[in-house]
Amino acid sequence: MMERQQEIELERFGAFEVGKRMLTLAHHHHHNNRILNAGRGNPNWINTKARLAMARLIEFGVSESNRTICSGDMGGYVEEEKIGERFRQFVDPQRSVDQFLLKSLNFVHDHFGMSEDDFLAEMVNGVIGNNYPNPSRVLKNTEILLNQYLQNTLYHEHDLAGQTELFPTEGGSAAIDYIFHSLVENELIKSGDKIAINTPIFTPYLEIPRLNDYQLVEMNLRSERENNWQIDPKELAKLNDPTIKALFIVNPTNPASHAFSPAALHAIAEAVKRNPKLMIITDDVYGPFVKDFQSIYGIAPHNTLLVYSFSKLYGATGCRLGLIAVNKHNVFDQLIRESPADKKKRLQERYSIVTMDPDNFHFIDRMVADSRSVGLYHTAGLSTPQQIQEVLFALTDLLGNGVHDDYIQRARRLVSQRSRDLHIGLGMTSDDHDLTGDAKYYSLINLYSLAEKRFGHPFRQYLEHHFERIDFLVQLAEENGVVLMDGVGFGSRPGEIRISNANLPTEDYRLIGRQVGKLLARYYQRFKKQKEESRSGSD
Ligand SMILES: *Cc1c(COP(=O)(O)O)cnc(C)c1O
Repeated sequence: MMERQQEIELERFGAFEVGKRMLTLAHHHHHNNRILNAGRGNPNWINTKARLAMARLIEFGVSESNRTICSGDMGGYVEEEKIGERFRQFVDPQRSVDQFLLKSLNFVHDHFGMSEDDFLAEMVNGVIGNNYPNPSRVLKNTEILLNQYLQNTLYHEHDLAGQTELFPTEGGSAAIDYIFHSLVENELIKSGDKIAINTPIFTPYLEIPRLNDYQLVEMNLRSERENNWQIDPKELAKLNDPTIKALFIVNPTNPASHAFSPAALHAIAEAVKRNPKLMIITDDVYGPFVKDFQSIYGIAPHNTLLVYSFSKLYGATGCRLGLIAVNKHNVFDQLIRESPADKKKRLQERYSIVTMDPDNFHFIDRMVADSRSVGLYHTAGLSTPQQIQEVLFALTDLLGNGVHDDYIQRARRLVSQRSRDLHIGLGMTSDDHDLTGDAKYYSLINLYSLAEKRFGHPFRQYLEHHFERIDFLVQLAEENGVVLMDGVGFGSRPGEIRISNANLPTEDYRLIGRQVGKLLARYYQRFKKQKEESRSGSD
């Protein structure tokens, strides 16, 4: 059994590190139980269509390359001229993967006027990957199609695809990393600056600003359970303070899994009117899990950097596929243009090795350059096979015309079913179940409220005051083999536990709920026994 002192030490680690250690505990101690790790957000499903399409394009690309060199295992480059014609001869219209690719050809021609040869050459060269990404920020047709995908899933009713520039990155993780890095390199946020963070939030947004390199002053704008995880408009009023440089948001939130309400979006729009240089960073990784989702980028397009990742929806965490989106007219470029002469000079020196006109080098291109320490700008950019894999995921949505994307519906139904089962297993009425804006990717359960509801207020107090915060999670891992995540690392209040609805077979979620209930009952037995002993002792 873990000692209290060890638990205190464990609580100092980041949430994901604690999760790892819990998993080790579960492996060492669990008795007859199977290990159920619902700590991580890694999904247990994948999108198959886009992956098959990728494989098929590689096959075609190799046959194309053998047209120019065919010597042992050696092929040559791919010729663009009439590549569309050859592709139509190559495919088998009976195969569904080929049907998908043929429909894609028609779609990009009909909707965007792309030439078949131009589009296919980009895709085929892209998957073969024998050229540096060019342009390094993003391939040409790739940017158009990814923008349309973001239009369908995130920009929603604000027509922004035509005025948005993209930088595909190695997952959302690299996007976050590049953003922090370039904001600091360009002195848009300096050590000691105030930044606002909507908490609870995905841990890196709390952990990165605390690192020595940044030393930012964090101000929490809280979303509370009592308010259905919506940010209080009073909290948003704090943004009127112009010394607040930036606002960091995950929307829909992680861990609470809720999208910002129309009222909150409105309050943000108002705050931007009063604080027009506010920089907003919104991470919309879970956006497509919410019907009619509206990104903050649509509300404040000139102030917002948008982070997206294909990891979760398409089950592609190992592929590392993400992006940054920024409006062509944005406050980041404006702030750089308006900076004092001495700072401008420093930045001119930094970027003059890669551009003739460093003053007008856009912030998004600075992120591309900074991502490779400026000096390696000419080899920067996301690998081309990764860019094409992003396009293929996007096309699975675009061909459904964004109206009825069967795959997205399935993903939503899957996490929703698991969330419902978990609540049933916990014996909780899930009347709060179909609220709009709930992505259901994670469930956040309050252990103390659950304890109170089941066994009364004194037991809740006993649990809160007699044990380390993570004692319950440690016991759950050791005795029941169930690994869940402490919400405190995300900035949640003590007692909040995050359960990922993404990474276990659906039939396990009731079991998790029941195991939590069983362990709670065991704590209650101890509590009762202690009470009885102290009563008989005082007799
Ligand atoms: C999972 C996650 C990411 C990381 O995405 P990757 O593409 O896997 O790097 C970023 N932001 C949030 C909010 C996430 O939950």
